[in-house]
Amino acid sequence: MEFHVKIQKKEQLTHDVVRLTLDRPKDYFFTAGQAIDFKLDRPEVKDKVSPFTFTGLNADPFLQLTIKCYPAHHGMTEQVAKLKAGDEVILSEPFDTVALKGPGVFIAGGTGVTPFIAILRQKKVDGALAGNSLFHFNKTKADAFMEDEFGALLGNDFHAVLSNEQVPGYLYGLVSADFLKQHITDFKQPFYTCGPEGFVKAVKNALVQLGASESMIDVQF
Ligand SMILES: Cc1cc2nc3c(=O)[nH]c(=O)nc-3n(C[C@H](O)[C@H](O)[C@H](O)COP(=O)(O)OP(=O)(O)OC[C@H]3O[C@@H](n4cnc5c(N)ncnc54)[C@H](O)[C@@H]3O)c2cc1C
Repeated sequence: MEFHVKIQKKEQLTHDVVRLTLDRPKDYFFTAGQAIDFKLDRPEVKDKVSPFTFTGLNADPFLQLTIKCYPAHHGMTEQVAKLKAGDEVILSEPFDTVALKGPGVFIAGGTGVTPFIAILRQKKVDGALAGNSLFHFNKTKADAFMEDEFGALLGNDFHAVLSNEQVPGYLYGLVSADFLKQHITDFKQPFYTCGPEGFVKAVKNALVQLGASESMIDVQF
């Protein structure tokens, strides 16, 4: 089933990441971490479907998506960048992504953090944030977003990491076994990683090298 919903608000979180607040259809329910297939009734993306993850919560009176736009791909997200309040988007029913196995370490690259936004917000509502940490990797400070909210949710258990520039207040480096060993002591807990394919493969390889069991690593890309 498809749902045609209007955009209430569009916010620019960075130079290429937008947050869309959408009308919520009646009797539309989802759980934190679930995604949808997204379509636009525009000739430029006729027959194209793109998956995005809800970043709001089921308890919110609206739906929220956080989307990185790639104008150079000349695909869906080039059109998303052009959307404005009042425009209509088409959503599928929600589907599952991350399989939660308990508190753990969330390791995201760029907008791979979207399922973790909803999951961590839900954990706050449920009083279940203890024992969770988040590493959010971005290339530069200009690419980073929502640091204030992640910091408020997780305090010292939130680690903002930049791979292409050194900036005070941010960790610096590419994801690797050396990097993770410096910041994580327990490799027997659950790990959740989401981001570009190369990033999540590097995270998984590093974690396995450090003694994590593959069955405890949830990988999404
Ligand atoms: C389950 C799931 C959930 C997701 N949730 C989110 C989310 O919440 N937020 C988010 O931002 N993203 C999310 N993504 C990723 C998102 O779906 C893609 O970024 C999006 O579909 C890209 O669409 P696009 O049409 O703009 O570009 P693409 O589909 O990547 O590319 C369109 C075309 O451009 C060409 N192309 C590809 N790469 C390049 C390149 N480097 N340079 C030039 N041309 C190129 C190819 O011909 C391709 O067919 C999710 C992905 C999955 C699988």
